[in-house]
Amino acid sequence: MKIGVIGGGQLGRMLALAGTPLGMNFAFLDPAPDACAAALGEHLRADYGDQDHLRQLADEVDLVTFEFESVPAETVAFLSQFVPVYPSAEALRIARDRWFEKSMFKDLGIPTPEFADIQSQADLDVAVARIGLPAVLKTRTLGYDGKGQKVLRNAADVEGTFAELGSVPCLLEGFVPFTGEVSLIAVRARDGETRFYPLVHNTHDSGILKLSVASSDHPLQALAEDYSSRVLKQLDYVGVMAFEFFEVDGGLKANEIAPRVHNSGHWTTEGAECSQFENHLRAVAGLPLGSTAKVGESAMINFIGEVPPVDKVIAIDDCHLHHYGKAFKVGRKVGHANLRCVDQATLQAQIIKVEALIAE
Ligand code: AMP
Repeated sequence: MKIGVIGGGQLGRMLALAGTPLGMNFAFLDPAPDACAAALGEHLRADYGDQDHLRQLADEVDLVTFEFESVPAETVAFLSQFVPVYPSAEALRIARDRWFEKSMFKDLGIPTPEFADIQSQADLDVAVARIGLPAVLKTRTLGYDGKGQKVLRNAADVEGTFAELGSVPCLLEGFVPFTGEVSLIAVRARDGETRFYPLVHNTHDSGILKLSVASSDHPLQALAEDYSSRVLKQLDYVGVMAFEFFEVDGGLKANEIAPRVHNSGHWTTEGAECSQFENHLRAVAGLPLGSTAKVGESAMINFIGEVPPVDKVIAIDDCHLHHYGKAFKVGRKVGHANLRCVDQATLQAQIIKVEALIAE
C-alpha cells in the first residue's frame, strides 16, 4: 500500500518509520528542498496548491493523509475527487481555524475558555470589555508553537494589538489560570472504533512544547475521553487526533485539537504497545487498530535548536534518540529523546540527565 502525505517534515518522517514495517510505501508532497521525510520515500517537490503534482500524487497512492492542518481547503477538495483522504476536509476545516474549533467545543457542551471573534480593533475593544483581562489574542489560523498570539495584561497591551498580529481574523480568549496542561491522543478507525492513550502532562517554554510525561490512572482520563469522543463522533473522524486541555478547578477546559499525530504523542514510539504513528496509519488504511496500552513509564523531551552530541544522548540508560536530520536553527524542533523506564523514580532521574545535556 502506498500512502501519500501532505507535508514532509518530522511527523511525515515518523509516519514512514512506523509504516515501512507494515509493508507501506510513502510519497510526500512538500515544497521544501530539504524536507526531512524525503529520505524515507518519494518527494514530490511542489506547492500545496499545485494541481499537476496533486494529481500525480493522487494517481500514485492508495490514500492521502496529512502531517499538518494548515492545508488549503482547495487542496483537500481537489485531492478528494481522485483518492480517499483522511482525515476529512471537514475535520481539517474546523481544526485549522480557532473560531470554528472553539464554536464546535461550545456546541458539544465541552468547556472551553470564553472567546470572541475579532475582525477589527473595535471588535477587540468590545470583547475585552466583556471577557476582561488578562486575555489571549490569537490569529484564527496558522498559529503554532506560540506564534501568532499575544497575552494582553493591561489596557496598553490592547491598544494597536490587532494590527500587531497582522490585522487578520483573530480570536480573543479569556486567560485560563491553569494548574497544568494535558493532552489526549486518540485514534478512531473507519468503522468508528476508538482508542485512547493515557493522558500526557505537558510543559512548554516560550510556547514550544519542552517535556511530555505520560500519566498512569490520571483522575481526569475518563472526562478527557468523554469530551474527545464527542468531537470524534461529530466529525466522523478517521485517524489520530490530539486534544489539548487546560487543567483548571479540578476539571478540563479544551484549548485546541490537532487532526494529526502530535508532538505530545511521540513518547508512544517506545512507550506504548502500538505508537500513535502506526495507529494513525492503521486507522486511515482500514486496518485493525493496535493497543494503546503504556509499556513502562515514559517521557519525551524535545531538542529545540540543536540535538546534543549523539554519543552522549544514547549513553543515557533508557533513552531513545529521534534525530530528524534537519538543519539546526534557533527555535526549530530538530529531534527528541524518548525515555522509557521501569518506574517513575527512574524516569524522573533520567529526565534530569537529558535536561542537563541540553543545558551543557
Ligand atoms: P496554543 O497555540 O493555543 O496551544 O497556545 C500555546 C500555549 O499558550 C498554551 O500551551 C498555553 O501554555 C498558553 N495559552 C494559550 N491559550 C491560553 C489561555 N486561554 N489561557 C492561558 N494560557 C494560554
